[in-house]
Amino acid sequence: MIIIMLGAQGTGKGTVAGYISDKTGIKQLSTGDVFRKNINEKTPLGIEADKYISKGNLVPDDITVPMVVGYLDSDMAKDGIILDGFPRTMAQAEKLDEILTQRGKKVDLVINLVTPREEIIDRILTRRVCSNQTCKATYNTKLHPPKVEGICDKCGSPLVQRDDDKSSEAINQRLETYEKKTAPLIDFYKEKGVLRTEEVSSRINRLGKEVAEDIVKDIL
Ligand code: AMP
Repeated sequence: MIIIMLGAQGTGKGTVAGYISDKTGIKQLSTGDVFRKNINEKTPLGIEADKYISKGNLVPDDITVPMVVGYLDSDMAKDGIILDGFPRTMAQAEKLDEILTQRGKKVDLVINLVTPREEIIDRILTRRVCSNQTCKATYNTKLHPPKVEGICDKCGSPLVQRDDDKSSEAINQRLETYEKKTAPLIDFYKEKGVLRTEEVSSRINRLGKEVAEDIVKDIL
């Protein structure tokens, strides 16, 4: 099954994708995590990607698309894949369709998470991630705090704030980029009949975990 996570930064795509992955065994590919790992390891890909990510801009398609295709063609995607952070532009969505069609596959489900903007900013500012690149668990100091402050429940490594979550300029730029470049994908997938929109908000007391539980019930 090929699942795509759509939604602005801070809506909980990683949390929902992680839960579905744990319950179904379908692997999760976060393009943001792959970039951050490469940035930490100072690989040529990381050095190039950092020029865009640190400013809240998208990494160009000639870097992003081949990287994703590599994962789609790997063992990781043998039972399908949950794409968290890809596609993010119409060009990427069209390219993905082309690549999947060539392989006799298609996008089965697009989960579109919607959260009010004020809540998004607050969630991004209170987001903490595990510094252990193979763990990458995500927390929120208000909504989903770790048992011990600053320490990952899963692996005991220190929790850190993502660099692009520290600057309000980068946060605003990312949200603007989302509205301009990624939001049009909602209609694209709606027309294909694969879109499932879910509100994730403390306002209605519905967070990522509840949304993910409902989705898992429906797809298993
Ligand atoms: P994320 O962890 O999904 O918020 O991604 C962090 C950053 O990585 C984004 O702000 C982009 O700069 C970059 N990025 C992640 N996925 C993509 C993509 N599909 N296309 C271009 N840039 C991406």
